[in-house]
Amino acid sequence: MSDPVSSEPVSSRLPTSSTQRIPVVNVSASGKIHVREQQGVFQKIRQHTNTLLIAIFFIIPFLNFNGRQAILLDVTEQQFFFFNITLWPQDFTVLAWVFMAAAFALFFVTVYWGRVWCGFLCPQTAWTAMFMWVEAKIEGNHHHRTALDNAPLSASKVGKRLSKHTAWAFIALVTGCGFMGYFMPARDLYIDIFTFSSGFWTGVWVWFFALCTYLNAGWMREMMCLHCCPYSRFQAVMFDSNTKTVSYDAARGENRGPRKRNKRGTDIDKVVKLEGLGDCVDCHLCVDVCPTGIDIRNGLQYECINCGACVDACNQTMEKFGYQPNLISFTSENALEKGQKPSIWSVKALGYASALLVMLVLIVMDLNSRTDIQLNVIRDRQSLYRVINSQPDNEVIENSYLLKIRNKTQQAAFYNISIAYDNVSAYEFEIETETLVLIKAAEQLEYPLTVTNVMRDNLGMTAGNARDELTFLITEVNSAAEIDSQKPLNQVSQESRFFRP
Ligand code: SF4
Ligand code: SF4
Repeated sequence: MSDPVSSEPVSSRLPTSSTQRIPVVNVSASGKIHVREQQGVFQKIRQHTNTLLIAIFFIIPFLNFNGRQAILLDVTEQQFFFFNITLWPQDFTVLAWVFMAAAFALFFVTVYWGRVWCGFLCPQTAWTAMFMWVEAKIEGNHHHRTALDNAPLSASKVGKRLSKHTAWAFIALVTGCGFMGYFMPARDLYIDIFTFSSGFWTGVWVWFFALCTYLNAGWMREMMCLHCCPYSRFQAVMFDSNTKTVSYDAARGENRGPRKRNKRGTDIDKVVKLEGLGDCVDCHLCVDVCPTGIDIRNGLQYECINCGACVDACNQTMEKFGYQPNLISFTSENALEKGQKPSIWSVKALGYASALLVMLVLIVMDLNSRTDIQLNVIRDRQSLYRVINSQPDNEVIENSYLLKIRNKTQQAAFYNISIAYDNVSAYEFEIETETLVLIKAAEQLEYPLTVTNVMRDNLGMTAGNARDELTFLITEVNSAAEIDSQKPLNQVSQESRFFRP
């Protein structure tokens, strides 16, 4: 019924704040909400996305690439392996861009789809759903669980509670392993934890995250969304009148009121119209299925995680009464009040899309400017120079350096060390040490190096400077035979100085 019969304005017939709530029936004496199980289109989508995300979370640490874990944030070695890319602490700006891009992507989606992240993709929601599924399997549906909560202590109650908490603890422990599997080799981790042979700190972290999972998904559930999650507090600033949120069509639903189930066009339907009733039959299902215990008929509330359970519940009721679906639906303010089709392109959406684009460009630029070699040249701090030959016409001076060369790739590689300098100098420079080095994958070589200068034969050049600028070049070569190749695989350089008396 889209045209309420009552002459009273709809807004004046509605509760105006979320505090005016119908008491929730599926709440036990202890105050715990036992959410009614709900089937429907959105619940199916949620089940599929949650299952997929949980599966991805556990599978990723088991993926291998080139004989090693494909994705690993190795804290002890300070390296992040992502397939064939190895990021070192100095490369972590790219991770910062990635996180910022993810945030702007989320904001962009939120402008149009509201809190779709909370309802369908958030790990808190996914793990809570898994824990609730286990709870329902062991303790029964919401009626049974409420009754069990209120029942006095008995062998059956203790047995059910013990089974539930054991199952929860097991899932929480596996989750702790799954999470830490991103930071240490996953295959060994599970074995070590379940055979109680892990190292002390590994055990501490796994059990810590297991405890967090157990408390969050088992006990806190919606309290996390309501009181701890910062996103639930500030997401409303991204909303505009085109944002799709779960909304109750008050103009169509009010006045709410119970009635006999009936088909449209019959006498009972006329009675309903005469009584000024809207399509809401006040069955309370939308409240019973709500994981945060709110009544969406009170309007948009920050507690709503956009899970769509009330949409499915209400559509089920509408079908039973022969009414049109979507009395509660994912819709926008503009669509509800003005009948306008929501547009994805608002000023906010364009702003977030532009910021996302900038972040993506920065990621590509950052990845392209990365080199697979890291070089740090440190001069010998003990002595500026050593005089090997002090004859004025054949002066030979020696300087020492320490080269720190890091192979940032995942394969061993040969590197050639060379120096470049100003050709108008009166001196020539030579490296006295071996210039071809082999460095293992992801290792740093600390290589002491001596450079000497000798007078050029051509004394017409500039002479007498107390120092010269030198540039150290590190070139990756496939083998010793390729040192003179015109196409070096990779090259880095760093400037330093050569001192003489
Ligand atoms: S489920 Fe629909 S019909 Fe039932 S109370 Fe909620 S809004 Fe009204
Ligand atoms: S009001 Fe509806 S969409 Fe929002 S949290 Fe409750 S059941 Fe989910």
